[in-house]
Amino acid sequence: MPGVAVVGGSLGGLTAALLLRDIGCDVTVYERSRETLQARGAGIAVLPETLRYPVERLGVPVGRITSSTEWIRFLDRGGSVRHAQRHRYRFSSWNTIYGTLLGAFGAERYLLGRDMTSFATDGAGDVRVRFADDDEVRAELLVCADGIGSVARAALLPEVGARYAGYVAWRGTVPERELDGPAFEVLHDALTYQVLPGSHVLVYPIPGPDGAVGVGDRLINMVWYRNVAEPDLPALLTDRDGQPRPVSLPPGSVRDELVGEFRSSAAALLAPPIAEVAARIGQPFVQAVFDIGVPRMVFGRACLLGDAAFAVRPHAAAGTAKAAEDGWVLAAELEAAGGDVPQALAAWEAAQLALGSRLLERNREIGDSSQFTGTFRPGDPRLIFGLHGPGR
Ligand SMILES: Cc1cc2nc3c(=O)[nH]c(=O)nc-3n(C[C@H](O)[C@H](O)[C@H](O)COP(=O)(O)OP(=O)(O)OC[C@H]3O[C@@H](n4cnc5c(N)ncnc54)[C@H](O)[C@@H]3O)c2cc1C
Repeated sequence: MPGVAVVGGSLGGLTAALLLRDIGCDVTVYERSRETLQARGAGIAVLPETLRYPVERLGVPVGRITSSTEWIRFLDRGGSVRHAQRHRYRFSSWNTIYGTLLGAFGAERYLLGRDMTSFATDGAGDVRVRFADDDEVRAELLVCADGIGSVARAALLPEVGARYAGYVAWRGTVPERELDGPAFEVLHDALTYQVLPGSHVLVYPIPGPDGAVGVGDRLINMVWYRNVAEPDLPALLTDRDGQPRPVSLPPGSVRDELVGEFRSSAAALLAPPIAEVAARIGQPFVQAVFDIGVPRMVFGRACLLGDAAFAVRPHAAAGTAKAAEDGWVLAAELEAAGGDVPQALAAWEAAQLALGSRLLERNREIGDSSQFTGTFRPGDPRLIFGLHGPGR
């Protein structure tokens, strides 16, 4: 089996690294961040594909790394239930899944502070990968899992730009036990939505900072999609030190006047239980929403995986599932091809391009229906999360 360099050590890169190592590849992960990644993205709704490695390969009980809810509820502005349906969802936090995967992969071949700057194929068919510190490594397969701002994508497909979707997500978490009784009652066992003109907000419980999943020990996670005209985006994404950021502002870096505007808008517009969550979030943070889709994922012995290839809007809650699925299919194809990298990548690309394109389009439709066309309806079956389709 080939020697593999995985660039980007988040959920997509780590899942691929584990799966490729399982089939006998010699795998090293190169992650740009200098420290073990922390608290990224707060809560995530998780689909079976995201949990598949921990559950199937590591034998982790699903209830140990996820919280779950039994209901989907839509509240109106006054807090009354507009629509309710029984549906079980699972949620986790980026940290919980990351910690589980990294614990399994181990630190020895997970190299921090390695910022890939370029790569090239040499005459022998190897890929030479270059880093910011001028170091160079060789691999027979390069997996670029370097996320939405992928250096690899920018170099290989300079014509593929990130298309701003016209809105951002305001996010944050609150310890569940800090909520007052009525808000806790409404929110603790549901994915709770509120639909507003040109906007929607979701609230759900996720594991606590230490991974605790018991009711009362968890965090309540909020994601509020709000339209921001493109010319106003750079000002919003300028942090409290005056530094412009391309995609997101992490917790603690949003300017005070914008946090104030978030809190006053939440008090004026949101149903009381959701407004209480917004009021109690210590450090709300912001992520802009983009559409990115590529026409190719394979370039010789290098491939783009996860958000590096397709960064889709979050409405199907399938971003980490798609990144994980890219890894599962890659390992299966490589095994089926007896370690022949070009043969495996050709089969892989056809399937994963189709999956990414479908998901991109589905999420775009859902997002536009909420933010722009006013056709986002409580109970619409298209809103059920899923990687391959609603509920699938
Ligand atoms: C508002 C919002 C809500 C979301 N909600 C959900 C949800 O509920 N459920 C869900 O499944 N998904 C959700 N997502 C999507 C999810 O966060 C992404 O799809 C997922 O993180 C992609 O994983 P990845 O490993 O491909 O990339 P990333 O997580 O972006 O990781 C890329 C990694 O590569 C590293 N890197 C970058 N450049 C280099 C370089 N040059 N050299 C070395 N390393 C590098 C980075 O430091 C990072 O660790 C949401 C996204 C947004 C914006």
